[in-house]
This record gives sequence, structure tokens and C-alpha cells, in this order.
Amino acid sequence: MKVNPNLYIISSVAGGGKSTIISELLTEFPDFYFSISCTTREPRPGDVEGKTYYFLSIEEFQKRITNGEFYEWAEVHGNYYGTPKAPILDAIRDHRVALLDLDVQGAKSVKALRPESVTIFIEPPSREIWIERLIRRGTDSKTSIERRIENGIRELDEAPSFDYVVVNDRLEDAIRDVKTILFQKES
Ligand code: 5GP
Repeated sequence: MKVNPNLYIISSVAGGGKSTIISELLTEFPDFYFSISCTTREPRPGDVEGKTYYFLSIEEFQKRITNGEFYEWAEVHGNYYGTPKAPILDAIRDHRVALLDLDVQGAKSVKALRPESVTIFIEPPSREIWIERLIRRGTDSKTSIERRIENGIRELDEAPSFDYVVVNDRLEDAIRDVKTILFQKES
């Protein structure tokens, strides 16, 4: 069986800058495949159905779990998130560069399924700067921010288990570092 070395999992804490980095990469490389997840969380301003996520009811999500429609799924910050199985398997089969935006649990699950995949953790330059960015982005309620900080502190401890850690101090530098990982020659 031919393995696909082109599966990249990008994780971070909430407010770590991962979505911005991914969206810059997709603009620059429109041939990349980006996996659009399903979620039961409420849409936020800027979310677009079928573009940022597929928004599902809890019942529908559970039905899809039962039907085996997810490549992986996890409960994150009190909501369900899952990667639809069929499109990611198509992208892998077609040898496309595939990007997955997953939480730390999801990154571990996919790495276990496909050890050849590459995991990248986007790390804020410091805890203080991260919390300030998270609050400043203004998309989450106070309770939701508190929960994201609590979870994020645990997730930061998991960074060393990733193949690469990219510190997102200046966005341009972080994007350059991720591109270096994506385009490095296989040895
Ligand atoms: P947000 O609600 O801020 O868009 O995402 C919350 C967290 O869920 C982020 O860490 C994001 O990477 C993660 N996430 C998004 N989609 C998936 C998915 O399909 N599976 C898993 N395991 N995590 C996901």
C-alpha cells in the first residue's frame, strides 16, 4: 500500500493563530485540500456553513458517529467536532496535500491511524500574550474564554508530543516556518 506523506495536522490552543495561518496557506496554495469539520457548536460571526464548518444538531452528530461517518471526532470545549471520513480519504487517495485543523486529541487519533502524517503545534510566544490575544479576538463569551484558557493550559503541555512546534510570535515568520515543514524534501 502506498502511504501518503502529505497529511498535515495543525493544532493549537484557542486563539493561537492556527486558523489565520491555515487560511493564508489556502489562499497561497489553492490546490491544498482543507478538511471542513462538522461541529455542534453555535456559529460565530464570520462562520459560513460548509466553508468554516458544517453545523449539526447533537442528534445529527450522534447519528453520524453511529454510522461511522467520521474519520475522527472529539468533544472539545463542551461541543462535538468531527472530520468527515469520505472527503479526507479521497484527498489521501488522490495524494493531495491535506490540512486538518484539529484539537490535540484529534491530532493524536489521526497520528495513531496514520503514523506518516505530520503533526504541527502552533504555540503562542507566551501565556500572557496568548490570553491577551484570545480576549482581544472578541468572538467568545466570558465563560467560553475561561473554558478555552483552562483547556489551552493542558494543551500547551502536549506540544512536545507533536512532530513540530512553531512559535507564532510574528505571523509572517510562523507561516514561513509552516511552509518550510510542508515543503521540506523527504530524506
Ligand atoms: P473552534 O470552535 O474555535 O472553531 O474550534 C475549537 C477546537 O476544535 C480547535 O482546537 C479546533 O482545532 C478543533 N477542531 C475543529 N474541527 C475539529 C475536528 O474535526 N476534530 C477535532 N478533534 N477537533 C477539531
